[in-house]
Amino acid sequence: MKTERPPVAVLGLGIMGASMAARLAAAGFPLAVYNRNPAKADALKAAGARVASTPAEAAAGARFILSMLADDAASRAVWLGEHGALQGAGPGAVLIESSTISVDWIRELAAAAQAKGLELLDAPVTGSKAAAAAGELSFLVGGSAAALERARPMLAAMSKSIAHLGPAGSGSRMKLINNFLCGVHAASLAEAVGLIEKSGLDRAKAVEVLCQGAPGSPMVKTMAQRMTSRDYTPNFLLKLMAKDLRYAQREAANHKLNLKTAAAALGLFEQAQDAGHGARDMAAVVEPFRPDPVK
Ligand code: NAP
Repeated sequence: MKTERPPVAVLGLGIMGASMAARLAAAGFPLAVYNRNPAKADALKAAGARVASTPAEAAAGARFILSMLADDAASRAVWLGEHGALQGAGPGAVLIESSTISVDWIRELAAAAQAKGLELLDAPVTGSKAAAAAGELSFLVGGSAAALERARPMLAAMSKSIAHLGPAGSGSRMKLINNFLCGVHAASLAEAVGLIEKSGLDRAKAVEVLCQGAPGSPMVKTMAQRMTSRDYTPNFLLKLMAKDLRYAQREAANHKLNLKTAAAALGLFEQAQDAGHGARDMAAVVEPFRPDPVK
């Protein structure tokens, strides 16, 4: 016999949120969804989701309220803005913030939730568009173990692993550390590809050497493929990687640490953003270094 699933709200139906919501719907969770641009909810409506016109309306009646939004500003608007989700959240609801956001903001949001007697988990994810579609994300969770145990079945419907890192903010801190390292790998590869192309080495052979050798991290391998094919179909937007590097720097500064490699990588992502690549995949960070950059 199939166990009855508790109602879930998903706020934010971008590249990641839409697929996460689809996994929840497929696993049988009664679903309410909200997105600022309502057109992105059409496919979920067809899959049976209730489409709400405000975050508060989506949150009403949900046992779990999960958001997957661009950044701190988006998260603040959706949780605490006019008709924000916190207004609609009922007693006993668990709030789950899965966006990659700053640790300062998650603490503020956790305090706002607590003032309403609600628990919040920060549960950002690793894994990109394909992993979200396949239900193979990895959650990095901060918050109480009890709230996580309640949320585990719905998180499991979207993921292959769930790591509990500590109190609220720990998941976000881990995610920022993870992504700052990813950003540094991608930025270094962009410079390496630029040098390979400008110096006239055989690019295919040179990239093969890098990918098969010690520098060939999963990030370098994925980025090398996209950089050489010049396929910048968004998996992870370049401007969002710049945001993650900024938040990582801010968190390090909170601990009196200056992340010099993150600062250098951020410079490369900002250069690419200034050249018009912000809404492309992060692999476009390579373009300013090429002999023949695309516009
Ligand atoms: P995305 O496709 O750009 O989606 C961003 C979402 O945020 C959309 O629903 C967008 O609504 C909403 N949004 C932006 N500004 C808003 C505002 N001011 N008010 C209300 N809603 C706002 O990004 P994504 O790739 O799904 O990423 C979502 C989060 O997951 C980000 O924090 C990202 O860093 C993180 N992440 C992404 C990946 C990845 O590979 N893509 C992997 C792990 C984590 P509209 O549709 O109305 O613009």
